[in-house]
Amino acid sequence: MRAIRRGETGPAVAEIRSILVGLELLEVSSSDEYDEDTEIAVRAFQQSRGIGVDGLVGAETWQALDGARWKLGARTLFHSVPTPLVGEDVSALQERLLEMGYDSGRADGIYGARTARAVTQFQREVGLAPDGSCGPQTMKALRRLGRKVVGGRPQWLREAEAFRQSGPNLVGKTIVIDPGHGGGDDLGVVVPDGPLRWTEADLVFDVAARLEGRLAAAGMRVHLTRGPAPAQPMPGAERAELANGLGADLLISLHLDANSNPAAEGVATYHYGTGSGLTSTVGERLAHLVQREIVVRTGMQSCRVHAKTWELLRLTRMPAVRVDLGYLTSPADRDRLVNPLFREQIVEAILAAVQRMYFPVENDVPTGSIDVRQLRLELAARRS
Ligand SMILES: [Zn+2]
Repeated sequence: MRAIRRGETGPAVAEIRSILVGLELLEVSSSDEYDEDTEIAVRAFQQSRGIGVDGLVGAETWQALDGARWKLGARTLFHSVPTPLVGEDVSALQERLLEMGYDSGRADGIYGARTARAVTQFQREVGLAPDGSCGPQTMKALRRLGRKVVGGRPQWLREAEAFRQSGPNLVGKTIVIDPGHGGGDDLGVVVPDGPLRWTEADLVFDVAARLEGRLAAAGMRVHLTRGPAPAQPMPGAERAELANGLGADLLISLHLDANSNPAAEGVATYHYGTGSGLTSTVGERLAHLVQREIVVRTGMQSCRVHAKTWELLRLTRMPAVRVDLGYLTSPADRDRLVNPLFREQIVEAILAAVQRMYFPVENDVPTGSIDVRQLRLELAARRS
């Protein structure tokens, strides 16, 4: 489109002015002239939206102005095909959905199929007709829940409730073990060590395979997200989708860390959470259990538990944690990690953490002081 500029008049200018008035960048008036005040307002708008500040309304500025005229709730949003609805109200909706734990994709301001699916899911869960469009009823429910739920998203409440209802039993539960990296040339951290080359991808796969056997022996259905050497790299979203598709009860992702300082060492565990305190409570509990069991059983340095919004943690619909099982760049950690007996210890620790998730015996049995057989005996004794 031809850029509209200062000095012009007409209905297009009137429309631009009315949007700027709505954004409170311009005083209300009935003028249809692109005057100095209009140009100042356009420049302010361009600056606020990260568009090149030239005071002209070209295609990009017009699209941004068009999108900005909508405040969330001012119009009904729906999945329009083939031309989707675009606007700041859409990105506000997407942000709200994401905050509440729905997977609406990136907050890109485009009401696509994924956003419609997230709205449908929300509607179903609050008992509205699941039509995937966001009208007054759905807006009302969003506002109500957004206010009521402070520091705990409905998803996390649901997650905790689902977890509680699933009962204290490992048998029949589905767990996904995600050995990090490993596709194509994505080997994660690689450290040459004399004639040998250690890779994060191989070491975490070894731990995952050992863990698979132990968890399966305990009665769980175990899935690995990848084989020892898949052809293609696998993004976090794909791994999350796989776990979601399996309806997994838990997901544990295994990685190693790296640092240019060889003195950096230790174990860290991550769960989903944002800086503002929104967190997966069940995921956080699993993270603390895993971290504690590993640190106590192996004597590794604790780099503590942290909340992250990484794709894998954000997009999974079950309690999910990622463990960084030490620094491959630390000679001390590496010596341990390359020892299969040490990796068995880690497997034992993670197994105990999973057991503890389902059998809350932490008050009776001190962490790390027992092996899993004893834990099982303890539980059998308590049941009889
Ligand atoms: Zn990694």
